[in-house]
Formats: sequence, C-alpha cells, structure tokens
Amino acid sequence: MTSSLLPTYARYPLAFARGEGVWLTTAEGERYLDLGGGIAVASLGYSHPHLVGALTEQAQHLWHTSNLFQIPQAERLAQRLTAASFADYVFFTNSGAEALEGAIKTARKYHAVSGHPERFHIITFEGAFHGRTLATIAAGGNEKYIEGFGPKAAGFDKVPFGDIAAARAAIGPQTAAILVEPIQGEGGIRVPPRAFLRDLRALCDEHGLLLILDEVQSGVGRTGKLFAYELSGIEPDIIAIAKGIGGGFPLGAFLTTFEAGKGMTLGTHGTTFGGNPLATAVGNAVLDVVLAPGFIEGVGAKGLLLKNGLAEFATNYPDVITEVRGEGLMLGLKLAVPPGDFAAAGRQEHVLVIPAGDNVVRLVPPLIISDDEIAEALGRLAATCAHFSVAAGARRGAAE
Ligand SMILES: *Cc1c(COP(=O)(O)O)cnc(C)c1O
Repeated sequence: MTSSLLPTYARYPLAFARGEGVWLTTAEGERYLDLGGGIAVASLGYSHPHLVGALTEQAQHLWHTSNLFQIPQAERLAQRLTAASFADYVFFTNSGAEALEGAIKTARKYHAVSGHPERFHIITFEGAFHGRTLATIAAGGNEKYIEGFGPKAAGFDKVPFGDIAAARAAIGPQTAAILVEPIQGEGGIRVPPRAFLRDLRALCDEHGLLLILDEVQSGVGRTGKLFAYELSGIEPDIIAIAKGIGGGFPLGAFLTTFEAGKGMTLGTHGTTFGGNPLATAVGNAVLDVVLAPGFIEGVGAKGLLLKNGLAEFATNYPDVITEVRGEGLMLGLKLAVPPGDFAAAGRQEHVLVIPAGDNVVRLVPPLIISDDEIAEALGRLAATCAHFSVAAGARRGAAE
C-alpha cells in the first residue's frame, strides 16, 4: 500500500474503527484487548462516557480562544493539579516533548535570574526518552534520534541510569538540574534502585540544583500513585506530564514550585494551542475519574493482580520471559525473544503490547481495566508465549 504519510513509522497492517473500554475493534469487527492504551495515553480506555460527555459538551460551546484571554477550564485544571501535588504553577502544552521543553527552560531561567546564566547544563540518564524535539533528543541521548539533525543541543550530560555516584561526579559549576524518569518507559520499564530518587533529591539540595521529573508516562495514576514521585516519598521542583492527562486528547503540562518557576515571568514563554478550553475540559474530566475516592488505589491493586499473574505464568516460559517488572499498571516483560516478534504473536492472539528498549514489551493498559479483563489478558499473553515455546521445542527437536 502506498501512503502519503512520511514513512517514519513501521506501522502494523492493522487499523481500528472503534474502541470501548480496553477493547479496540477493526472495521471487520475483530476485537483486540489493548494492553498498550495508545502508548499509555488512553488512561480511561476508549469512549469513556464521562470523557465523551465532557468533550462533546465543551465542543458545543467553545473550542479555542488563545491564551490572550481567561480560560476557566484551564484555571480549574491547574488549580486541581497543584492542589493534588507538590506544585504551585502549571503551564499547559500539547505534548510531552513540549512539556519537557518548558521544564528545561524553567530550570535554566531559574539559574539565570539567580545570577548564574552559566548554569544551564542538565544531567540526564542513559536509556532515557524525553521526546523528539531538538532539545529533547539531546536530553534523551539516543544517538539514533540525534544523528543527522545538525549540532546536538548543548548542555545535556548523560550518566548511567540508577548510578548516584556517576550523577554526583557529573555535577560541575555549569550544572542547573537533574532530569529523570522515575521509571523509564520507552527505555524498557526500567525501575531504578529504591533509594535513587531520594538520593537525587539530596544531591540536588546539596548542590543547589533543581530536580526535574519526566512523568509523561508514569504520571496521572499509572503507577498506583497520582505521580510516581510519591512512591519514593520525595518532592521534585518541576515535573512534565502528558499522555494520561488527556485520556487521548493531546494535552501536556509542566508543573513547578513558585521558587523553581521564579524566572518564568511575563512574556518568557508561550503557546498558541496549549491549555485551550477543549483540551482542558477533557483534562478536568480525566481528573474527575482519577481523583475519585479509591480509583488510584484500585490501579495499584490491579497492577499487583496483573504483575502476580504474569510472574506466575512467566515461570512456565523461561525461554520467553526472563523478568516481570514495573509499578502499578506500568509493567514490562523482559524477553528472551525479540519484542517485535512477541508483539506480533500477541496480535495473532488479539492482545496488544508495545515493544520498548532493553528487550522489553510494555503493558500500559487503560487504568479502568477490570479484574476479568486482567484474567483474559493473562490467558492471551500465555497463549502468546506458547508460540515461542512451541517454536523453541521444534528447533530443539530438529537439532536432535
Ligand atoms: C512519550 C514520552 C515523551 C514524549 O511525549 P510526546 O507527547 O510524544 O512528545 C516524553 N517523555 C516520556 C517519559 C514519554 O513517555
């Protein structure tokens, strides 16, 4: 099939016409259990009645006004996000990368207005992913994404993930901040050592650095906390969010304390679309559900159910799954087979998973997945593993 879409993606030969809850349906009526959630975006699943209601209601009144005017929906969403977090201010964006750009600018400006414009370097981590803009590919540090796009944006110093001594050693007179994902998503659901964020917080306090967390994937209930930093009992200075907050509508934000945001004064930053009435009406609807009593605790419980189930059947397929890891409904299966092959076998079983780095497939399903659907998912994933065990058995047979 010829396509007019720029061929930067190797798309699966599969298109969906409808979605409901955790299920996606093709035009021919084939149903797939989606453990990918549009890459951790469909936090409330597909066609959630409350989101559809909020979007269609707002669409009938006003979609967009620009940030030259008051936007009550954005005011309310910002107020709710700050009330539920460490933060004092919110700036809305349309994507994760833009949220990171704003977070990086905020950290640099903080030092500039503190009399240290030379402090613009940010310590980042191997295996990180922060987006595809020029600054965020430099921050992520993946050479494949940087190669051929001109000089790499300056001021990002990469150290091994989880290595506090390396982070300490990388601090110099130009260092402004440390930027880290609490759990690496694209990198392969890599969970750092328990004390890592606490130690980074201490390091930042000791050296006057800002701690920036990229919670674009881990935020908004995904890990069984509203934000993953809560798992480590620390508070950051700035975070970036996106994916889950819009439930499928393009919406991101960066959140900052008063102090860390002190340089972001009148005219220092802006956006045309960010935080428009339609996007923030949907964001508020997502929070209505996620912040309802018991919802986030439920994510933790479902995450445990899924993780324990995976761990149980993984022992039957040691030649396929070598590790089950992650928090809440941000889980990864480390594989002994290529993740792309596993995802393809999953599609044959009508279960969708997402390949990531470090030979992992990600399970980041809608947070509204039911216990019955988790059982169904486990059955389909076991069937997916069986594809490879049979193949391995056949190879062993042939070799004998
Ligand atoms: C997806 C993601 C981004 C980039 O978000 P976009 O909306 O694609 O720009 C940044 N950081 C993390 C951790 C992500 O998972």
